[in-house]
Amino acid sequence: MVVVGAGNAALCAALAAREEGASVTVLERAPWAERGGNSRFTMAAMRFAYDGLDDLREVATGLTEEEVEASDFGTYPARRFVEDLERTGGGRANPKLVEILVSESRRTLRWMRGHGVEFVPLYTGQAFEVDGKRRFWGGLTLQARGGGPGLVAALERAAERAGIETRYGCRAVSLRVEGGAVRGVEVEEASVRRVLDADSVVLASGGFEANGDWRRRHLGEGWEEAKVRGSRYNTGDGIRMALEIGAGRAGQWSGCHAVAWDLNAPEVGNLEVRHRYQKHSYPLGIVVNARGERFLDEGADFRNYTYARYGREVLEQPGRLAWQVFDARVAHLLRDEYRKRHATRVEAESLPELAERLDGVDGEAFLRTVGEFNAAVRREVRFDPSVRDGRSTRGLALNKSNWANPIEEPPFEAFAVTCGITFTFGGLSVDRHARVLDGGGRPIRDLFAAGELVGGLFYDNYPGGSGLTAGAVFGRLAGRGAGRFDA
Ligand SMILES: Cc1cc2nc3c(=O)[nH]c(=O)nc-3n(C[C@H](O)[C@H](O)[C@H](O)COP(=O)(O)OP(=O)(O)OC[C@H]3O[C@@H](n4cnc5c(N)ncnc54)[C@H](O)[C@@H]3O)c2cc1C
Repeated sequence: MVVVGAGNAALCAALAAREEGASVTVLERAPWAERGGNSRFTMAAMRFAYDGLDDLREVATGLTEEEVEASDFGTYPARRFVEDLERTGGGRANPKLVEILVSESRRTLRWMRGHGVEFVPLYTGQAFEVDGKRRFWGGLTLQARGGGPGLVAALERAAERAGIETRYGCRAVSLRVEGGAVRGVEVEEASVRRVLDADSVVLASGGFEANGDWRRRHLGEGWEEAKVRGSRYNTGDGIRMALEIGAGRAGQWSGCHAVAWDLNAPEVGNLEVRHRYQKHSYPLGIVVNARGERFLDEGADFRNYTYARYGREVLEQPGRLAWQVFDARVAHLLRDEYRKRHATRVEAESLPELAERLDGVDGEAFLRTVGEFNAAVRREVRFDPSVRDGRSTRGLALNKSNWANPIEEPPFEAFAVTCGITFTFGGLSVDRHARVLDGGGRPIRDLFAAGELVGGLFYDNYPGGSGLTAGAVFGRLAGRGAGRFDA
């Protein structure tokens, strides 16, 4: 069998197919140096359902007593994972896919553990210290050791051990169909086209986020200007190939995951800096546009439940830019990415001085905004970043719902951001076995799909850390189904 792509979903599919006894070839469009797709750019945070410490230990087998003692991991029952997917998707997520994703999440991470992926607590950005304990606040507790590069390297090692061949610099261009079943893939390798025969094919080649024309066509005007956070190679090939042979579309084709991303980040992802161009501590401060106005509720919810839709909000502002502003009281709480050399940052000892340094911003309006904001903060409510603390503003046209701290203690810092697109939400229609469905809802024989190019799970928004888990869960199912044919 053939797997198209060599990111997280693809490698999980390849491993699962091999377990079924299939002989597997993985095709990767990128050269070896740029391998690993978007999966390699991540911090490999993976959301899964767990009912307590025993469940966590099954996945994070190296959890130490000191870590347990010093942490409040809480629980994340399946019911909450389902609720989070339903709530962030406005009730539109495909319930069959949601049910599989949630119910298979822990089992799948355990299976990955069996293939050498180690999981460790994700203290950075997902836990705040409260009363001497690091308390996890957002249902997202573990990451693969070594982040995205560690995750991909572990899966690659497992694939190599299992005798799976990966061909880099090999781009799939079309699917070959015989008698109604998929029987191979046409590829382009070093400018030469040829057909690779296969008894079944898994498509796991990502969404269309790196395709400016498709972004403009499907997401709308202006999206061609968004920066691409990850791989330059996810241009929708797998989706196009499947649509050409009659696959059905699913999910929100006008929707995507997009975040606040450093204004001066490169046009496509950089494997040295990876995810660190993101700026995810906005719940602790305020965000203003070029008019010096706030335009979103920075504290509407925990970062995990708002960050994926706030990139769009920034894209819609004049000049497609915004500044995140913080004062000295929260400086120690800012995530690591704010302390990197590449961050576009200004600092000032007074607000008027800061106003002058905010490039492209109406300074007078900015000072007015801060003054009104500070006056509206409900100071009598205790600030606690580890819960939705209800410390809001009162009486503003656009209130901040939680974690409202006045911007008044110098030094002040501000960070310039624009929109960075992560991945697209629209894609192929699949069933609960990861089989690709045709326009009439019938499985296309011997064609499977997993990862970003599957539609139906996410709409408008997304609970952080779900993408890799979805890729792994459906990748494993796709590989099982595709591999069985061969066995
Ligand atoms: C900066 C950043 C941080 C993120 N952080 C997280 C996180 O912490 N947790 C989380 O869950 N999600 C995170 N995500 C989202 C996550 O990366 C994706 O959901 C996930 O990696 C998608 O996996 P995939 O296997 O579907 O695609 P990918 O990993 O992108 O793999 C697709 C592969 O297909 C290849 N390909 C494309 N076209 C072809 C073709 N024609 N022929 C052959 N190969 C082809 C590509 O080169 C690529 O290697 C992040 C994304 C980014 C960009």
